[in-house]
Amino acid sequence: MHTKPMNTEMEVIIMSTQQVNLNLQLPGTSSSASAKNGILELMETMHYDEILNCMRCGFCLSACPTYREVGKETASPRGRIAMMKAVANGQLEISEKFDNDMYLCLGCRACETACPAGVRYGTLIEGAREVVETHRKRPMTVRLARNITMKQLFPRPDRMKTFGRLLYFYQQSGLRSLTRKSGVMKLLPKSVAEMEAAIPDIASPAARKERKNFLAAKGEKRMTVGLFTGCVMDVMFFETNEATGKLLAAFGCDVVYLEKQNCCGALHAHAGDKAGAMELAKQNIEAFEQSAVDVMVNNAGGCGAALKEYDHWFAGDPEWEERAKRFVEAQRDVNELLATLPLPKLKSLPYRVTYQDSCHLAHGQKIRLQPRELLQAIPGVQYVELPEADRCCGSAGIYNITNFDMSMQILDGKMQHVQGTQANIVVTSNPGCLLQMRKGIQRAGLEDQMKAVHIADLLYEAAE
Ligand code: SF4
Ligand code: SF4
Repeated sequence: MHTKPMNTEMEVIIMSTQQVNLNLQLPGTSSSASAKNGILELMETMHYDEILNCMRCGFCLSACPTYREVGKETASPRGRIAMMKAVANGQLEISEKFDNDMYLCLGCRACETACPAGVRYGTLIEGAREVVETHRKRPMTVRLARNITMKQLFPRPDRMKTFGRLLYFYQQSGLRSLTRKSGVMKLLPKSVAEMEAAIPDIASPAARKERKNFLAAKGEKRMTVGLFTGCVMDVMFFETNEATGKLLAAFGCDVVYLEKQNCCGALHAHAGDKAGAMELAKQNIEAFEQSAVDVMVNNAGGCGAALKEYDHWFAGDPEWEERAKRFVEAQRDVNELLATLPLPKLKSLPYRVTYQDSCHLAHGQKIRLQPRELLQAIPGVQYVELPEADRCCGSAGIYNITNFDMSMQILDGKMQHVQGTQANIVVTSNPGCLLQMRKGIQRAGLEDQMKAVHIADLLYEAAE
């Protein structure tokens, strides 16, 4: 088998990790016994068995956006796995460099699609980040920001609603225009200012109050579905969630909004907070068990990939493993479900449309054909395939804030392809990608020529 060459730095790391050496002592441990325990714990958290499945062939390199940008082995999947192995063996320190290398990864999982050995890289990077978060102390400001977002905000639907109301007030009271005109935005980090500019108009509290917890199927009823609304999705893209519910009803589904559902935990898992992610997963499993729905439907590729991994998260847990498996069997992405149902009558839309894959939909859930088929089923739509559509747009959860420069480098490259399609609608199926594509359109000065739209909104426009 042809293998791609590595650079010298990585060869040294890899050669030094050929043998597991349990006699090594970790920094901060006082005896060889505790060092062994520490290393065994590291191996378990970092999924050492999975690490060993990497045969270092390098087939994943050209698929990796960060390797393509940086050109170094340490920015590639193979290099990162080698570093994880060295850390798990106790042969590499959990240093600032290791920390940075693990967080330069987008978590896009394009390497999983490219890997002939089926290495579950997404699981590996989550384990590596969990280890980083356990062993490295963050500055106070970072700890505070994480505590507010990950612990006080995302897992609390009541607070997310308040956050939505505050955003609405900020946008509609004139405060937004005042802030922009005053030049205050220039004092903020560029990542925050650009994110603020891409935030869509937030739904009013009155519109939110009107949401019904149940929508009846139109025409012949085919099934009952529970709609997963997400945390950020329901604040930023409330109207898309509403359109998704109505769209499902138009396809013959009774739609229930499960009251006790919560954030999926994806952001927590990607940021190394597995315990926080699992706490949220338990709440979602319970909400599903207490409902009478046939399946649960989500419209966010990132959330969907996490929801479908709960069985892995609870593997070996006597109380939760079987429950998580039943939950996972009932999860559907909206494209995945709609593609199995008879099409309702759709009206003609005169748009030239292209589609940007959500990484976690394409690489994580292997859902690629369904959204394309649905778009091409809309009469009047001229569909044009986007070159490298399944290459990450640089959004990657909060990556576009934490790694702003790299994120924008990737986005600007993506926008060249988007512009080349001459589409007037760029469709995505994930809130993060949608915000990122809006930002890309603004950065490229294409606001007069195209807009970014969620697939559920476009399909609903045709089904209305
Ligand atoms: S998840 Fe994406 S960025 Fe990270 S190593 Fe894999 S391909 Fe590269
Ligand atoms: S992750 Fe897969 S494709 Fe990449 S080097 Fe390892 S075995 Fe090869």
